[in-house]
Amino acid sequence: MQRFQQYIDGLFEDGTSRFDSLDPASGEVWASMPEARDDDVDRAVRAAEQALWGGAWPAMTASARGKLLYKLADLVQENAQRLAELETRDTGKIIRETSAQIAYVAEYYRYYAGLADKIEGATLAIDKSDMDVWTRREPVGVVAAIVPWNSQLFLAAVKIGPALAAGCTLVVKASEDGPAPMLEFARLVHEAGFPKGVVNILTGFGASCGSALTRHPGVAHIAFTGGPSTAAQVVRNSAENLASTSLELGGKSPFIVFADADLESAANAQVAGIFAATGQSCVAGSRLIVEASIKDRFLAMLKAKTAAIRIGAPLDMATEVGPLCTRRQREHIESVVAASVSAGAKVVAGGQAGEGHGFYYQPTILDCDGVNSPSVETELFGPVLSVVSFSDEIEAVRLANDTRYGLASGVFTQNLTRAHRMVKRLRAGIVWINTYRAVSPIAPFGGYGQSGHGREGGLAAALDYTRTKTVWLRTSDEPFPDPFVMR
Ligand code: NAD
Repeated sequence: MQRFQQYIDGLFEDGTSRFDSLDPASGEVWASMPEARDDDVDRAVRAAEQALWGGAWPAMTASARGKLLYKLADLVQENAQRLAELETRDTGKIIRETSAQIAYVAEYYRYYAGLADKIEGATLAIDKSDMDVWTRREPVGVVAAIVPWNSQLFLAAVKIGPALAAGCTLVVKASEDGPAPMLEFARLVHEAGFPKGVVNILTGFGASCGSALTRHPGVAHIAFTGGPSTAAQVVRNSAENLASTSLELGGKSPFIVFADADLESAANAQVAGIFAATGQSCVAGSRLIVEASIKDRFLAMLKAKTAAIRIGAPLDMATEVGPLCTRRQREHIESVVAASVSAGAKVVAGGQAGEGHGFYYQPTILDCDGVNSPSVETELFGPVLSVVSFSDEIEAVRLANDTRYGLASGVFTQNLTRAHRMVKRLRAGIVWINTYRAVSPIAPFGGYGQSGHGREGGLAAALDYTRTKTVWLRTSDEPFPDPFVMR
């Protein structure tokens, strides 16, 4: 059985408490993980506070911080295959996806490495002739970065990269479901040569480790990715110390296909949108909104493509759909699909758990036209597509926006003016036109409504890890004027 360690103040430790991690493909225990408790969290936050205010890190130039980030990027790239195998083993996410994604994670660190010495304050054209006034962008403080189990290295990179570029220090909490890749990544942080305490990496359960971290008075900002109900708890915890938050939450993203679309391309993108990563993706295009005149044709195409999907062992490069991460996740999907079928949804494909001991669930398509199906509203975080149809553009927009979420959306049409109208009308943080599930370190990412607030990726994300200090310098040698009049 493999044994992983937590990383606090530059040291690797077993921790006082431990828990077992299951292999989702077999349902068997395969590794032992440290379980951070209150005192571990406290030590980690204190280490991050010390590193923020003293020692080598605050004395380092922004360019030197950038060089450390470049080194980390190179190490992630060199070790991508090993990290991918660990992520696949511990979460069941297929190796085809994890190996490509982790190789690309290196680009996020490179992007923020390059930004580190471009975070600038401003000289102000102040309205007082005897003053020079300028602003400095200073690190916001100790950041608590909390990630869910899916795409942990990626979701951590979009927090760690900009936070370090801005000069912050961090305590990163890996998910209790599949923390292996994050704990292994700690070894690369160490090897890159960051001063001790700058990045601390723990894992543990939400109600204990997560709660202790988000309530800790030493934490200035919480960067959270996970589900909306957990986010609400995180915000309540943050209120104790008035820490700021950025929240990347779930979604129920619409995938809209107009009759004039390139249907072959749209069908491939829809398969990517809902079945890639076994549907366990925050941006999953889980609601197909298709023009009524092409519905039957498009569903027939999707059904054929779904039947051809290779379901198998996640570590096999040929596998296209693997198991879900946890048994509880499969049970959630089973119960929502059962309720949807009872409500009248018709099963076009799948609709059942997979065979064997692993946490498999068949790629599933539910026709929910004219039915009040819970699958249309609920984020399933699995390979389940709900289909509804529309008769005109207005109805397509209404259906697309009929959700409390607002993370991503996809539109397939050859009509340029309609595409522009859709961009303006859709309430979502991302609109993909004639494509789906594309990301880049250069492009901001984030949601509307219950999908959260704040953006990850891009320049603005690095600025979000800073706060502005305003400096006033009086340039006159005259005595200080009337003390009872505000200047
Ligand atoms: P989750 O909300 O259950 O857990 C996320 C993290 O929060 C875990 O590390 C967990 O331990 C921690 N946590 C739980 N309770 C806590 C508490 N009281 N205080 C502090 N931390 C706590 O989510 P999950 O099931 O691991 O992941 C699935 C969810 O994540 C889905 O809703 C999905 O859409 C969302 N997600 C969003 C994005 C995005 O970028 N918008 C990306 C990936 C996943």
